[in-house]
Amino acid sequence: MARRLNGRVLAAHYETSLRTSVAQRLATAGCPPGLAVVRVGDDGASGVYVGRKAQACGRVGIRSWIIHHPATASQQEVLESICRLNADPACDGILVQLPIPAPLDARQLLLAVDPAKDVDGLHPLNLGRLVRGEPGLRSCTPAGIMALLAHGGVVLEGIRALVIGRSILVGQPMGIMLQQANATVTVAHSRTRNLADHCRQAELLVAAAGQPGLVGGHWVRPGAVVVDVGIHRAPPPQQGTRATLQGDVRFAEVEPLASHITPVPGGVGPMTVAMLLWNTVQAWQQRCGGGTAPLAPLPR
Ligand code: NAP
Repeated sequence: MARRLNGRVLAAHYETSLRTSVAQRLATAGCPPGLAVVRVGDDGASGVYVGRKAQACGRVGIRSWIIHHPATASQQEVLESICRLNADPACDGILVQLPIPAPLDARQLLLAVDPAKDVDGLHPLNLGRLVRGEPGLRSCTPAGIMALLAHGGVVLEGIRALVIGRSILVGQPMGIMLQQANATVTVAHSRTRNLADHCRQAELLVAAAGQPGLVGGHWVRPGAVVVDVGIHRAPPPQQGTRATLQGDVRFAEVEPLASHITPVPGGVGPMTVAMLLWNTVQAWQQRCGGGTAPLAPLPR
């Protein structure tokens, strides 16, 4: 039976560590870290995620606020909000909440964010720094997965890793981070042939296809480490019961086979939020002259 990589527990450790770092530096900095979320439209899931991020900010001492535009907002209006936040000294981090509704151009909005405030790590400059292995703000979901794997004692050096998905948000930066940890990485996508065969060879499998239940037990090599990034709201099992969350992996089939597995919910999701907090505190520390000294080390 697989060992569960518990994102809730590790994220709580991060929060404790960040709360201490913020409290220690607050007097010197003169103001708390600030995170602004730019939201466009009324996508229900986005509303839930934004609310969770705001609560998490409150727990560690980050001031957060939301700039909420209607779905009818123009590209120019949203760009102007981002430019104001770039110039706002109370704002250390800017998060453009995805998805951005059509016909707005999300790429152009992400490009407008000051790279020093790009706490989602999606600006081309920060992605370029990642590719070059230079310090910079890292994409939250893959960075959170790397932390979970490290904390779980998973050795990446030399292992055969498969990432399903090649988005800029998850798959691409995940592949690069794993490669930098000396794994041998394959990145699969919707045109990959014989995906099941690739999966069965993988010692580490990261499922980020956005396809509920894509990976079943017959695709998983016994003893593999399985990371499930997908989040899908499944219909309530019976009338009157609540909707449940499920991932890209069929958990009940895979848990008995894998050596380690992330649950959904409670695996990757909380770590994505923890990394957002970490990036925001890091950006604040840089701006307030705290230098590049690392934040308080993680409790183990
Ligand atoms: P995305 O932009 O839709 O990308 C999905 C990727 O998966 C694409 O590269 C696509 O290939 C590939 N793909 C789709 N169907 C496939 C299939 N049947 N076989 C192989 N590859 C397939 O999604 P995303 O933003 O990366 O997010 C992926 C999932 O992670 C979603 O469920 C999302 O909700 C979840 N997510 C969770 C967190 C978290 O904190 N837990 C954070 C971010 C995202 P092509 O490139 O060929 O189209």
